[in-house]
Amino acid sequence: MVYRPRYTGLIERYRDHLPVNDDTRLISLGEGNTPLLKLNNIPRLTGKNVDIYIKYEGLNPTGSFKDRGMTMAVTKAVEEGSKAIICASTGNTSAAAAAYAARAGISAFVLIPDGKIALGKLAQAMMHGATVIQIKGNFDKGMQLVKEVAEHTPVTIVNSINPYRLQGQKTAAFEIVEELSCAPDFHCLPVGNAGNISAHWMGYSEYYQDGIVATRPKMLGYQAAGSAPFMRGGMVDEPETVATAIRIGHPQSWDKAWKVKEESQGWFDECTDEEILAAQKLLAEKEGIFCEPASATSLAGALRDIQTGKIPEGSKVVCTLTGHGLKDPDIAIKQSSSPVVTVSATLESVRDAILDNMAK
Ligand SMILES: *Cc1c(COP(=O)(O)O)cnc(C)c1O
Repeated sequence: MVYRPRYTGLIERYRDHLPVNDDTRLISLGEGNTPLLKLNNIPRLTGKNVDIYIKYEGLNPTGSFKDRGMTMAVTKAVEEGSKAIICASTGNTSAAAAAYAARAGISAFVLIPDGKIALGKLAQAMMHGATVIQIKGNFDKGMQLVKEVAEHTPVTIVNSINPYRLQGQKTAAFEIVEELSCAPDFHCLPVGNAGNISAHWMGYSEYYQDGIVATRPKMLGYQAAGSAPFMRGGMVDEPETVATAIRIGHPQSWDKAWKVKEESQGWFDECTDEEILAAQKLLAEKEGIFCEPASATSLAGALRDIQTGKIPEGSKVVCTLTGHGLKDPDIAIKQSSSPVVTVSATLESVRDAILDNMAK
């Protein structure tokens, strides 16, 4: 048998690139090291010669990339003596904060928009023992409140304005470079607060400056059309989209993201809810990959730009799928076209049901 050391999370793996020392107690759930899957069937449907890879961040411990940032943010909060963390969240940050706080043995307080959070994410925050505070307002209002309350209360903010969050999240770029042996030509991400696109650029840039790669990708940030401040050139006060994880009108990393676009010579674009849901379904039906709606925005945008030639043939494209499909079962069931067939419990009925659906 070949001995392989137990994987113990991204801080341990990338400690040389992260602000920890030998005495730091690491708060980890084994996050990172997610699959980079090459799409087989969808590129063929486009009729274009492109390599599309999916970075499947839904396979992190709480089902989203937020774990990469949260392991760093909570590790540093504990190191600095904090006993409680707080965040505003469209869902996934609260799930991650709750889980890592439980692991660390500290308290978590999460502000979520009333009625606009996917069921799986709420279940996670509640199950991990966070105090869930639903506010009658959207994410942007929650973020504003968190900043204010943290000035008057001994709590550490673990939203992506916490610089350790981006430090942890940059490791996704390291993993991609190591597996491809180069940087991709294009890296596509859904954009909400724009922390993640900024973190990826930081990761690529560090490997570039260290001489590990000779190039950096063009960074492509896709937003939901009803929630696209980077396309409007200013804040959006009433963001709306089925992709609740990116239902954000006042991005916290506004300046950083514009810099990423300039430096990488990339671009922003927007996708309609219909395009987002179509891409989510395409991934599920043609590749066996289940992501939540917001995640599919990266592929929806990439496919359009591949069709129009903005992403030229011969390109190597990475799309980040930010969160797992099980996070939001309601939307999935609502738009599924696979019938649930109810029949009598007899051999004949079951056989007929199979034969009727065989051709599909
Ligand atoms: C947080 C999140 C995003 C947006 O990331 P930002 O860093 O806010 O741009 C996208 N998709 C999912 C599933 C998320 O949880």
